[in-house]
Amino acid sequence: MLTSASPHDVLTDLDRRHLVHPVAHWRGHEACGPSILASGQGVWLQDDQGRELLDGFAGLWCVNVGYGQESVVQAATEQLRRLPYATGYFHFASESAIRLAAKLVDISPASLSRVYLTLGGSEAVDAAVRFITLYWNSVGQPQRKQFIALQRGYHGSSSTGAGLTALPVFHRGFDLPLPNQHHIPSPYPYRHPSGGDDAAVIADSVAQLRAKVAELGPQNVAAFFCEPIQGSGGVIVPPAGWLKAMADTARELGILFVVDEVITGFGRTGPMFACQAEGVEPDLMTVAKGLTSGYVPMGATLMSEAVYAAIADAAPQGMAIGHGATYSAHPVGAAVALEVLRLYEDGGILAHAQAVAPRFAAAMQALTAHPLVGDARQRGLLGALELVADKATRRAFDPALGLGERIFGIALRHGVIFRSFNDHILGFAPALTITEAEIDELFARVRRVLDDVLTLPEVRTAM
Ligand code: PMP
Repeated sequence: MLTSASPHDVLTDLDRRHLVHPVAHWRGHEACGPSILASGQGVWLQDDQGRELLDGFAGLWCVNVGYGQESVVQAATEQLRRLPYATGYFHFASESAIRLAAKLVDISPASLSRVYLTLGGSEAVDAAVRFITLYWNSVGQPQRKQFIALQRGYHGSSSTGAGLTALPVFHRGFDLPLPNQHHIPSPYPYRHPSGGDDAAVIADSVAQLRAKVAELGPQNVAAFFCEPIQGSGGVIVPPAGWLKAMADTARELGILFVVDEVITGFGRTGPMFACQAEGVEPDLMTVAKGLTSGYVPMGATLMSEAVYAAIADAAPQGMAIGHGATYSAHPVGAAVALEVLRLYEDGGILAHAQAVAPRFAAAMQALTAHPLVGDARQRGLLGALELVADKATRRAFDPALGLGERIFGIALRHGVIFRSFNDHILGFAPALTITEAEIDELFARVRRVLDDVLTLPEVRTAM
C-alpha cells in the first residue's frame, strides 16, 4: 500500500482484506468495497467522504430515536464510568438491568412478567427456543419438539433461529431448516390468491396453522413463532386482526405463541408493541433493535409467569439452569435502553411517530402512481414499495436480474438509504423522530431513484 493513499483508500483496502461482512456476498463485497459511514445526526448520515445521506432505514430498522441523541450518550457514559460491567452469574446484578426488566414488564402485554436480557435479536430468539424446550420438558411433555413459523419470516441467524427464519440465503449450505422446523405460508395480501381479501388471508393462515399442527400431531408441537409484520421477508403487512386470530388459534391448539417484535417493537408500527394494537397476549416475546435504538447491542426474551414458573419449579435443587452469557443483562446496554425508553414516552418520540405516520403513508401511497410501483403498504413508520414488471398482472421482476443491489447503488447516488430486497421490494423504516419535511424529502429522493431504475435497459425489456 502506498503511503500517499487517502484514509478512505486505506480503510477500503483493509476492509476488503480482513472484515467479514454480515449477510453479504463475500466475494461481491470484496469487489465493490465498503460504504464507510462516519457520523450521524437525526435521520442524516455522513460518509467518510463527506457525502450526506438521508437514512430512510434507521440503520437496520433500529435507530428509532435517531442519531446523535445526547442524553443516550450521557446515560452510556455515566454507566461506563460508574460500573462498566456486572455479571448476572452468582446472583449479581446491576441497578440498570433490574430497572430495565421491571420497565419492560411495565410496558409489555400483561401476560409477560419475566425478562431475560440478551445481546440482540438472534440471541433473544435462540433463548426463546431453549426456554420453550425446557418448558415442555419441565411440564412432562418432552415429545413437544416441533416448531412452526412463517414462510418469509426472519428470526435471526443463530443455529436454531436461522432455521425458523424462512429466507433461502439463511438456509442454503447451512443444512437448515432443522428437521423439527416447519413453515406455513406468509399472510401476504398483495400476492394472496384471493387478491388480498382481508378475511380470506386471515382464514387461510388459520387453516394452514391448524393443518400443520394436525400433520405433525397436536401433541408434538411446541410453539408457533411469528412477526406481527414480516420485516426482512419484504415488509409483509397482514390484515388487521390476523395476529389475534393466530394467537387465538395457537392457544386453542395448546401450543405456545411467540411474537417476535424485534423490528415492530418500540413504536415502529404505532403502539409500543405491535401486538398491543390487537390486544394479543403472547406466551413469549422477543425484542431488540429499538430497545437501545442500536446505540449499543441489547435484546430481550420476555415470558409469561406460567412458562417461567414451570421451568423454575422443575429445576432440581441446587442445579443451575444452564443458559446465559458473559454479557447477559449488560449494565451499559440496560442504562442505554432505560434512557431510550424514556425518550419514547416522556420525550414524546412515540407520540411524534404516531403524528407523522399519516404523512409517511400518504407519501408512499402517492408513489403507487409510478409505473414501477405495484403495491405500497405500511403501518406506522414501517413500510414497503413493491416493484413489479406488470401492474395489471402483478408480475414480479425476475430475481436473477439482481435489481436489488443495483437499486441500492442508485439510491446512494441520490443520497438516500433504504432496504432493497432482491425480490424488488423497497423497505422503509426511518427514525421515529423524522419530520414531515424529511418524509417529503425521503420520498422525493425515492421517486428520483425509481425514475432512474425505469431507464435501465433490463427493466425496460422486462416490462
Ligand atoms: N427477529 C427479527 C424479526 C428481526 O428482524 C431480526 C433482525 N433483523 C432478528 C430477529 C435478529 O436480530 P439481531 O440481528 O439483533 O440478531
